[in-house]
Amino acid sequence: MLVSDILKTKGNNVVTVAPDTSVTTAVATLAEKRIGCIVVTTDGGTLAGILSERDVVRMLAEKGGDVLDEPVSALMTAKVVTCTATQTISDVMELMTTGRFRHVPVVEDGRLAGMISIGDVVKFRLEETEEEVRQLSAYVAGG
Ligand code: AMP
Repeated sequence: MLVSDILKTKGNNVVTVAPDTSVTTAVATLAEKRIGCIVVTTDGGTLAGILSERDVVRMLAEKGGDVLDEPVSALMTAKVVTCTATQTISDVMELMTTGRFRHVPVVEDGRLAGMISIGDVVKFRLEETEEEVRQLSAYVAGG
């Protein structure tokens, strides 16, 4: 199963903010959209970084409430690990496990083309496993 199979179901929409957006605004967007991570882009499509709820929590613990007035560029992870639509879900699982993060943006021709979260990966692996069980059961019953 490929990243493009997940995107067929969930679409290509990615929630983004500009680097100079305040952390307060970014946090409000995370809450409103019910997501845990936001992609930082310079023009709505070119990747500049990624900001996770974990970055905000860590910086709040380290520096206190003043971080809410800072721009997201001060808290984001600038070196983003990405994948392409033609990679397998297993590839993405490996990236998440190795990098210890739960989000991988999809990039095609240098532009954002979607977002894969650990929830998407788990859901698709579960469906894949259920389908395998169905096929094996049908095979055994048929024999
Ligand atoms: P997460 O588990 O995805 O909420 O993020 C945990 C940490 O990894 C945070 O510091 C994020 O900024 C960072 N992070 C999340 N996704 C990525 C990614 N695809 N590439 C690099 N860093 C990431």
